[in-house]
Amino acid sequence: MSTGVKRWMWDQLTSPELDRRVADQPVIVLSIGSVEDHGGHLPMDVDNLESRSLCEAVGEQIPEEMLLLPHFPYGFETHHMDYPGTIDVKAEHLLEVIADIGLSVAHHGFRRLLICNGHGSNMPVLDLAARRINTNSEALCASFIWPNLILNQIKAERESVYPGGIAHAGELETSVYLHLNGDAVQMEQAQKNFHFPESSFFYHDLNGMGPINMAPWHSMISDDGTVGDPTVASAEKGRRWFDAAVQSMIGLVREFRTWQALPRTDHHASSLATSTTEVYQPDRV
Ligand SMILES: [Zn+2]
Repeated sequence: MSTGVKRWMWDQLTSPELDRRVADQPVIVLSIGSVEDHGGHLPMDVDNLESRSLCEAVGEQIPEEMLLLPHFPYGFETHHMDYPGTIDVKAEHLLEVIADIGLSVAHHGFRRLLICNGHGSNMPVLDLAARRINTNSEALCASFIWPNLILNQIKAERESVYPGGIAHAGELETSVYLHLNGDAVQMEQAQKNFHFPESSFFYHDLNGMGPINMAPWHSMISDDGTVGDPTVASAEKGRRWFDAAVQSMIGLVREFRTWQALPRTDHHASSLATSTTEVYQPDRV
């Protein structure tokens, strides 16, 4: 029995094949999500399914330009642990493991790593992991949460109010899930949920967060886990947003693959200044 070889997947290649791909420097992509509550209407794999499906769709379209690592299915979830089923990887552990994955990629000779994320609270940790990869290897790593690929389109087409309608298990995530795996959505359970107190400073929306960061226990801002309005979700909107995200991410992979900055330069007058710790050595891989 054969399930078909996906040449754009890192672990579907043999080790010698992978080594030969270093010559043309595809962008290495890591998708990450989480296992967490998404209200009474969505399964707990929303962040995993949406991020992984996006990266796989991009891989299908530009197989020569990227390689997709095995999906990383757990996220930083401490503030969601009041909801049954959520799996929490502590922030410091997630930082370590994502940095380890990125530094492994760099060790094998690849120089561009993109982390595509489906879970908002992973972002500060992924940003730190990407920075560690950048300063401890010759690779460049960038991380993003996938709705950022299509912010203007979401803004133009959303029906829920801003801010708040698209935060957690709301209009966006529910629409895309309806498109990808509609049979698993229990729309009769979907509830509009706006328990986040009105504020000019603190608000959550994937279309633009409030200017001041504050993440309390999730159960302090939602009764069923939803933050936003899933009742206006539709599979058709989900299809449009998913397809647009695929096209936007193709553009991102292509630009990042050829993105060049100035070479790193040591501006100390004395060579003694850079000899104290290994991590700051310019040629360390
Ligand atoms: Zn989610």
